[in-house]
Amino acid sequence: MAVVCPECDNPITVDDEVEEGETIQCGECGLDLEVVSVDPLELAPVDVAGYDDEEDGPVADEDEE
Ligand SMILES: [Zn+2]
Repeated sequence: MAVVCPECDNPITVDDEVEEGETIQCGECGLDLEVVSVDPLELAPVDVAGYDDEEDGPVADEDEE
């Protein structure tokens, strides 16, 4: 099976026995792609945002009168 990278349109050959939930890496842009569907074959970029455990933005200032 073949599919194109949603990020860079690089053609990616995928194993015929690929299963939903598997992760494939694009050889062109290095993006990790998760198989979200096998029929039709559909890939989606893996969301790595969960890796970052930092607080987003400054903590609310509790400077009350
Ligand atoms: Zn790519």
